[in-house]
Amino acid sequence: KFEDFEVLFSSEELQSRVAELGREIARDMRDSENVVVVCVLKGAVVFMADLIRHLPMNVTCDFLRLSSYHGGTTSRGNVRFDFDLTQPIAGKDVLIVEDIVDTGLSMSFLLKSLEARNPRTLKICTLLHKPARQKRDVPISYLGFTIPDRFVIGYGLDLEGKYRNLDYIAALK
Ligand code: 5GP
Repeated sequence: KFEDFEVLFSSEELQSRVAELGREIARDMRDSENVVVVCVLKGAVVFMADLIRHLPMNVTCDFLRLSSYHGGTTSRGNVRFDFDLTQPIAGKDVLIVEDIVDTGLSMSFLLKSLEARNPRTLKICTLLHKPARQKRDVPISYLGFTIPDRFVIGYGLDLEGKYRNLDYIAALK
C-alpha cells in the first residue's frame, strides 16, 4: 500500500542529480554528431524526459521495451524484446537510459543485443542501482544513485502500474 512507502529522494534531489548527470554526459558526448538516446520503457520515461533537457547537443530519441520472466528459483533471466527500436544504430553513439539496474539481467541482455548491431559506442545511464541483488556484471557509465535492496516507486517506477507520476522516489518501509 502507498502508506507503506517513505520518501527516499525528493523531487529537488532528483532534479539536481539529473542535471549533474546531464552535464557529465554532455561533457563526454558533446562532439558526437550521432547521439541516440534509448529509453527503456516504461520505467525510464520520466528520467529520460528530464535528462535530455540537460543535453545541449543534437540527439535523437528512440524507445524499446523488454519483458522478463525471472521465474522460479533459477537465476537465469529470460529477457526478450517486447518491442524494438525504430531505427538502425550502426555507427551511432548510443546512450541507454534505464530506471534501475537490479539483477542486471535486463541490461546484460540489452547490451549484448545492441552491441551486435555495431553502434560506434554504447553506454548505460541508469538513475538507480541496487548492487545487493546483482547477478550480472553490467558496465554503468552514468549512475544517479546507489540504493539498498528496497522496493522503490515514483519518478517512472511503478507498483502494479501505478505511481509512475510521483515527482519523488519512495521506498517500501
Ligand atoms: P533487472 O533485470 O536489473 O533485475 O530488472 C530491472 C527492472 O526491474 C527495472 O527496469 C524495473 O522495471 C524493475 N525493478 C527492479 N527493481 C525495482 C524496484 O525497486 N521498483 C520498481 N518499481 N521496479 C523495479
